[in-house]
Order: sequence, then C-alpha cells, then structure tokens
Amino acid sequence: MTHYTPPPTLLNNRIILVTGASDGIGRAAAKSFAAHGATVILLGRTVRKLEAVYDEIEKSGGPKPAICPMNLETATPKDYETLVNMLEKEFGRLDGLLHNAAVLGTLTPIENYNVNTWYQVMQVNVHANFLLTQACLKLLKKSNDASILFTSSNVGRKGRAYWGAYAVSNFALEGLMQVLATELESNTTIRVNSIDPGPTRTAMRANAYPGEDPMTLPLPEDILPVYLYLMGPDSKGVNGQAMEAQ
Ligand code: NDP
Repeated sequence: MTHYTPPPTLLNNRIILVTGASDGIGRAAAKSFAAHGATVILLGRTVRKLEAVYDEIEKSGGPKPAICPMNLETATPKDYETLVNMLEKEFGRLDGLLHNAAVLGTLTPIENYNVNTWYQVMQVNVHANFLLTQACLKLLKKSNDASILFTSSNVGRKGRAYWGAYAVSNFALEGLMQVLATELESNTTIRVNSIDPGPTRTAMRANAYPGEDPMTLPLPEDILPVYLYLMGPDSKGVNGQAMEAQ
C-alpha cells in the first residue's frame, strides 16, 4: 500500500481527529487529509503551532478545520469527556481517529531508566491513546465507515536495547489495537489498525539519532499513502493489521 494513489476526493465529508497535529508526521497527515476533503480536528499542546497548521489548511482551500489544544500528559478523563461533548455538538460524529502524538523519553538501559520519564512516556503514548479512544467511541459508532489508526514503530514490534519506555509503549499500542479490533469487528463499522511510519525526517527522529543526516530520510509528506489508504473507504474490511508506511 506504500504506492497507493488516492483519488482527490478520497476523504470528502469525513471528520477526522489527529493527535500531535502541530508538527512532524501528524501535521503532514492532517494537511493531507484536509487536501483530500476531510474536516480535520487538530489536537496538540502548542496552540501557536496548531494555529499555523490551521492557517495552512485554510489557505490551501481545504474544509475549515478545528483546533483542540490539549496536553496529553496531564489531560484527565473529564477533559476527554468535555472534548467529545464539544465535538458531538459541532460535528455529530467522527469518521477517523489518528493517534499520532508521542514522546521519545530517553534511550537508556532499563536498569537505569528514570522512573518519572517512564511514567511520562506511558501517560502520553499509552494512557492518552486509551482515554481518547474510549471517549471517542460513541462518536465513531455514529459513522457508517470509521477508522482508528494507532502509530507504532519497529521497536514496538521487536524489542531493542535502550529504547525503554518508548519501545514498551509501542508494544502496548499494538496490543490495544488488536484487542479493540477484535472487540469492534462483529458489531460495529469501525476498523482498527496500526502504522509504523518508518524512519522519517522529524524532530523526534533527529532526537533519537543525533548523528544521522536528516537529508537521507523521507519527509513526512512522502510517507502518507498508507495513512490515506487506512483512513479512506478503500480499506473497508482491513482490521487488526500492523502495517508499514515505507
Ligand atoms: P514529532 O516529535 O515531530 O511530533 C510529535 C507530535 O506530538 C507533536 O505535534 C507534539 O506536539 C505532539 N505531542 C507530544 N507530546 C504531546 C502532549 N503531551 N500532548 C499533546 N501533544 C503532544 O514526532 P514524529 O512526527 O516523528 O512522530 C509521530 C509519530 O510517529 C509518533 O507516534 C512516533 O512515535 C512515530 N514514529 C516516528 C518515526 C520517525 O522516524 N519520525 C519512526 C517511527 C514511529 P508539540 O508540537 O507541541 O511538541
């Protein structure tokens, strides 16, 4: 599916929530979803950066997006409920949910891993995905073709030394994806899958690999065909799959 060519109207009339939409892959995905006709809800913690993405989408003529400032490290179940009530009032349903926001933590052996960093990574990368999914399910059930995408990574499919909480959090997301996919497959129209974006030129990648020349990596804009495929109607029936963007 890395060579999937979506029609320009692929996501017309779809309402898609993207977390971590302010930067990197989430920003590129949100812009691309809008360019293919979706109304995107931009969730992230840095309002200034979210506003810049909002302006870019408006300028390029995409459907008017929405901004939801939210810090996934500190958000409470009540905050998710408030968010979903607001979305219900404004849009009535959700057709897509891209869980993309994440933090790297540190690259440290488990023996020395800082406990607070561990909790922080698990909160943003795992618990927030669970809380947001749980809150959004009632809106996703109102769609006649909904897609939930979790963002994983290769170290969440095969463990690697020093990747600590980040790797473990991605294993947890693969588990959440599989459990949810089997729970929803017989009685809803919601499909649930995960994507490993592969090495991509973003701030997180540069942090993880400071010695690497970023120019050797694809841009976030270059890895989106699988994201579009899994968000759009062509992936109907694809459920519980761990896919790769490159
Ligand atoms: P970036 O660091 O470039 O972007 C991360 C995004 O998540 C930003 O929008 C950031 O917001 C947001 N975010 C982080 N913490 C929080 C928080 N507490 N609350 C709300 N939003 C938050 O990362 P990438 O684009 O590289 O990564 C995107 C996804 O892809 C991640 O899940 C990552 O694990 C995965 N991935 C990336 C790879 C790569 O090579 N880039 C490879 C494999 C997987 P802000 O702008 O405010 O910082």
